[in-house]
Amino acid sequence: MSSPCAHVVEFLADYLEQRLPADVQASLERHLDACRACVAHVRTYRSTVTLLRSLCDDELPSELRSSLQAFLDRGSQN
Ligand SMILES: [Zn+2]
Repeated sequence: MSSPCAHVVEFLADYLEQRLPADVQASLERHLDACRACVAHVRTYRSTVTLLRSLCDDELPSELRSSLQAFLDRGSQN
């Protein structure tokens, strides 16, 4: 499976929160029209965030929470 592009990973959280400047958002969306790896990454990221938000922190086993957090943080560590 191919990896998403670094610049997409970098902006993804802001993109999903719609906090990006319009021109950056537009260029990301153009990229997502063309890049399968990034589309797959966005889909996975979004569903993970949705899952996290749907769970009360206290109900989430700490082991699962840290692995989800590691997944979400992965993009900023390389
Ligand atoms: Zn890409």
